[in-house]
Amino acid sequence: MVRLILFGPPGAGKGTQAQTLAKSWQIPHISTGDILRAAVAEKTDLGVKAQANMNRGELVPDQLVTAMVQERLRQPDTKPGWLLDGFPRNVVQAHTLEQFLQQSAQIYDRVINLEVPDDVLVARMLSRGRQDDNEAVIRRRLEVYREETAPLIDFYRGRQSLIDINGDVSVEAVTTAIKDAIAKPDS
Ligand code: ADP
Repeated sequence: MVRLILFGPPGAGKGTQAQTLAKSWQIPHISTGDILRAAVAEKTDLGVKAQANMNRGELVPDQLVTAMVQERLRQPDTKPGWLLDGFPRNVVQAHTLEQFLQQSAQIYDRVINLEVPDDVLVARMLSRGRQDDNEAVIRRRLEVYREETAPLIDFYRGRQSLIDINGDVSVEAVTTAIKDAIAKPDS
């Protein structure tokens, strides 16, 4: 049973790591970015409401995102565990997640904080070429990360949940570092 929150700035490699870990541990990878992009592509209500914010590099309103995550975490495939990627992204979302987990008698095990220098993040996102990966929007996403998301580092450190991982090494080395850190009971 593993319940992990993958945390880090945009471009840190959360999605890449989550995919590998989810496969290896046979648990679902829940990426709010992926779910939102699918909603935009399908032009669902949620997608229509989220699109403008995403294109500007702003957060999608908390209510929409938290409802979406709660619905996903209620699905039976999350019984053996889950990997959250891209959520929570601010303190309100973190509190909502804690309440929800308490109500459903679940608890997250760890929060993995992927650390990558800004210049590397920008280079990675520019090479990825997603619709919201142009330079102005990337800069805005990094700002939003610093203002709204980075405060969660202290939030989770205060709960003794945070594990810092250097994300500026090879994909394989990051995966190994995460697995090693999780395997240590008192890390
Ligand atoms: P990245 O890892 O590059 O930041 P994501 O795929 O995680 O990309 O997110 C893409 C966009 O989706 C964000 O810029 C934001 O607009 C929206 N988004 C994703 N997760 C959340 C969230 N938890 N709360 C609000 N908006 C979100």
